[in-house]
Amino acid sequence: MSKQASNPLLNLGYPFPFGEITPEHMVPAVKKLVQLCNQRLRAIAGSQQPRTFENTLGALDTLTREIDQAMTVIAHLKETASSPEIRAAHSQAEPLVIALHSRILLHTGLWKALQEFAASPDAAALSGPRRRYLNKTMAAFRRNGAALPLHKKRALRKIDLELGRVASAFSDNVLDSTNAYEWVVENEQELAGLPSSARSMARDAAAAKGITGWRFTLQAPSYEAIMKHLDDRSVRERFYRAYHSRASLPPFDNGVNIARIIELRRAKASLLGYADFAELVIEERMAKSGKAASEFLDRLRVQTGPAFQRENTELEEIAPHPVEAWDVLYYAEKLRKARFDLDEEALRPYFPLDRVVNGMFQIAGRLFGIRVEERTGVPAWHPSVRFYEIFDGKDLLGGFYTDWFPRENKRPGAWMDGMLTGSPVRDGFTPHLGLMCGNLTPPTGGRPALLTHRDVETVFHEFGHLLHHLLSRVELRSQSGTAVAWDFVELPSQIMENWCWEREALDLFAAHYETGDPLPEDLFQRMRKAQTFRAANQQMRQLSFGIMDLALHRSYDPARDGGILAYCRQVQQALSPAPLPEDFAMVNSFSHLFGSPVGYAAGYYSYKWAEVLDADAFKVFLKAGIFDATTGARFRSAILSRGDSEDPAQLYRDFAGRDPDTAALLERAGLLQTV
Ligand SMILES: [Zn+2]
Repeated sequence: MSKQASNPLLNLGYPFPFGEITPEHMVPAVKKLVQLCNQRLRAIAGSQQPRTFENTLGALDTLTREIDQAMTVIAHLKETASSPEIRAAHSQAEPLVIALHSRILLHTGLWKALQEFAASPDAAALSGPRRRYLNKTMAAFRRNGAALPLHKKRALRKIDLELGRVASAFSDNVLDSTNAYEWVVENEQELAGLPSSARSMARDAAAAKGITGWRFTLQAPSYEAIMKHLDDRSVRERFYRAYHSRASLPPFDNGVNIARIIELRRAKASLLGYADFAELVIEERMAKSGKAASEFLDRLRVQTGPAFQRENTELEEIAPHPVEAWDVLYYAEKLRKARFDLDEEALRPYFPLDRVVNGMFQIAGRLFGIRVEERTGVPAWHPSVRFYEIFDGKDLLGGFYTDWFPRENKRPGAWMDGMLTGSPVRDGFTPHLGLMCGNLTPPTGGRPALLTHRDVETVFHEFGHLLHHLLSRVELRSQSGTAVAWDFVELPSQIMENWCWEREALDLFAAHYETGDPLPEDLFQRMRKAQTFRAANQQMRQLSFGIMDLALHRSYDPARDGGILAYCRQVQQALSPAPLPEDFAMVNSFSHLFGSPVGYAAGYYSYKWAEVLDADAFKVFLKAGIFDATTGARFRSAILSRGDSEDPAQLYRDFAGRDPDTAALLERAGLLQTV
């Protein structure tokens, strides 16, 4: 046998042979698979046969299957079991795969084949998911410039290149200006108000720099601790101003970069025949148009207004002076303590990881008619990784790995990933494969891993994404599981979090790890109340980001509106709980919008959009009973099993019998009674 034939990355089956994969396999496998894809591309483009679904779109759907699987494994090992060898292999392999994907979208022979097929009687007869795939594929090629004359194609490539360059300069400035600021304290009396956890974090930060005392920075944990707790108002003001004026002064000024990015995005949209950049981005999403997204945010803004005013008045009443921007978090924290004094840590003993996970499987079982079973002896990338399989009766739907604890060579955060997408075979589907990872507090000193309630929500959230992947019953790989519109993808994940707030569901898993006692009612009630504390302010903050985003990408006109900084400050001021200082320049460090060529640009509204979907869908469950199997089965058949095989708005209607209603979000946030 040749050396290649023994490369496990060339022949990935279910489950993956993690024990056999080494860094030496990675680059050769990717190179070999790039060749395979190139051959397939040539075969589609050069085919002399009459154009059929199978020899054009069907072939395109599976074109990159093997290389995507191999790359998923490589990226995954870099994230969870990193070593210098894996990182080196990854950085060699990744550009090859990126280049391949962009070559496919730019391939003139492929575009010609697709056009020929689109004009054929076969294509005219398509319906359902295959029709949708045809339409979306043609649109994706067009959005990439396939239908443009050569000189415009060149102009588009130039724009894309420059966008990448300027966005990366933007990110560098944010990083550099954030890191350029510090506050070092040698006298502990200056830290009055700060809790001990923040003090020890600052002490460690100082020690890491080889200095004595306490060091504070504009990194989120340090900054938030200052804004919430530090009694010294002048320091809070200094931090607030420094944070919100990042990347607005030389040598890290992003002013020119933002103006250029907006100009380039507008030029790109216009080259492709769109009215503005928001139309280009939102066309394929659930909102469908920039106008619909703007109206959605605006409606929520109006509905949130009265509660927002009330919350702001509450703060003014307890503050001994007019509330400035740097006082908001500080007095809000005082109010929160006075009202609930809920210590996150006190909940941990009731959430041992194994009980939480098993309770979650039980909930999913009752709702969706599935069974989760652990399978031992399956090779993985670390001894603490566990493997489970999901069955529907006797049918194996798929398997997934869980990897819950931090390690030095693992990236932070929590995430889900699909590794293998099952496809239809004669008597069903081949199994899907996926994973969930987290960085939860590991077991210590004889105690099991104990989670905060926020951790519990995270575990449920990622499991929702995983169910979307594993329960998929979609013919085409490109439409399977989580390959859905950005403003729809968080519905299956976010809806699962709701069960973490229901007594009946909590009773299935929340029990003291030593005594087995259920979560005390008093703790549960305080938890529920704290959930909606200052919900209007939280919501308005998200709305202000979304509204500013759409304003910049839809209506901002430099000739009419002047400089971007002043324009954004004005938009945000209307939605802010306190006056914004004259040096306020939040937009200059808004990486969601400007840190990459597209990113969340014209898409920040998606956060709220998805929240409406999950709150409204959960209301359907609340009405029928949170364990109602009929409602669960409908959620599975309309949403979880259908990926992107149908317009998400229709999928939602198939589940709920109507369109989503924003009232559910307001109700859950405790904001409805004031409307
Ligand atoms: Zn998510």
